[in-house]
Amino acid sequence: MKIVLENLTKKYPNRNRKVKGDVIAVNQFNFEIPDGKLIGLLGPSGCGKSTTLNMICGLEKPSAGKIFFGDDDVTNLPPENRGVGMVFQSYALYPHLTVMQNILFPLENLKGDQRPSKEEMQKKAIEAARLVQIDMLLERKPGELSGGQQQRVAIARALVKRPRVLLLDEPLSNLDARLRLQTREEIRRIQRETGITTVFVTHDQEEAMSISDLIVVMEAGVVQQIGRPQDVYEHPANLFVAKFLGTPPINVFDGEVKGGKLLIGNTAVLDMPSLTDGPVNIGIRPEGFVLSPEGPLVCDLHAVEVMGRDTSVVAAHSAYQGKEIRAIIPSESRFAAQDQKVRFSLKPMKVAVFDKTTGLTLYPAPQDSQEDS
Ligand code: ADP
Repeated sequence: MKIVLENLTKKYPNRNRKVKGDVIAVNQFNFEIPDGKLIGLLGPSGCGKSTTLNMICGLEKPSAGKIFFGDDDVTNLPPENRGVGMVFQSYALYPHLTVMQNILFPLENLKGDQRPSKEEMQKKAIEAARLVQIDMLLERKPGELSGGQQQRVAIARALVKRPRVLLLDEPLSNLDARLRLQTREEIRRIQRETGITTVFVTHDQEEAMSISDLIVVMEAGVVQQIGRPQDVYEHPANLFVAKFLGTPPINVFDGEVKGGKLLIGNTAVLDMPSLTDGPVNIGIRPEGFVLSPEGPLVCDLHAVEVMGRDTSVVAAHSAYQGKEIRAIIPSESRFAAQDQKVRFSLKPMKVAVFDKTTGLTLYPAPQDSQEDS
């Protein structure tokens, strides 16, 4: 089932009397979510992710715009008539009911013709429990389960009515690191097996990048970029997106384009024949630095941290906008610092150049990967 968001907008009255105007939680969101895909809705806290999800689900009414499931306009339908399954960060299970009773709950609430027979309900509940691999725990109460198991019950409960759309709001945030990793793989598997169009909200870029077919990066209610995770990482639309994706984050320098060269300080670090002269912001991914004795970028060495597969070189430069530069180099690299200086050359593929005022990407040439997904 494809989902179409058309100029979707949500305004809330401003509670702060000193500030005029409404809070625009979501501003003119346009997107056609392809059938059967997993979409990661990503952005910092307060950017409008949950509001968007709640409008798709029907818990919030849009101030403007429309929502379609396939060709059905569902904008004014109540949640129970939309055919959505919803999973929240807090698993919201009924503590006094068993796992089986929790999964059965949405079916038992169906009325009239929609309500399946008792046997049919049992069959559907067991099927959903099998899908999330908790069919051996059906007689337990939620309090007797681990966090990961409880979240699986919540997913089974969301799936039992065979929803047209599955909506997940920060479903992994209450789990510890290992369970989070395991459960996110599990969500990916379940989504692939069922083929249900799924929207997954998270503020964790790594989580979104690892399981989504497409990610939507939002800031302050406005969609910044939509695309395949790797495409967005390699071709960010602007400085905000570039900074939001990747750990350690991209390293941003004050720079300048002059006569077809990219300068940091007075040093030309790359050829940039396609750009016009002027001040720019330069972003360099941690993996974009190459240790090289003749490298043009000379930095003050602060520390070298060896961490298993990789080595982090922590350094400083007067044109760097943050506190410390973090370069990641393969741990087998020979490291020779002279006079506490370290020299780098740069991988052009790992460098991005942004307009100083608008923040828009000048290099690499922006691409729109939404169309061909
Ligand atoms: P996210 O899920 O990305 O953290 P939300 O969608 O919850 O963000 O919120 C988006 C913006 O809307 C925030 O500025 C938030 O304070 C505001 N907001 C959310 N719900 C309400 C509400 N009921 N009343 C007023 N403002 C709200």
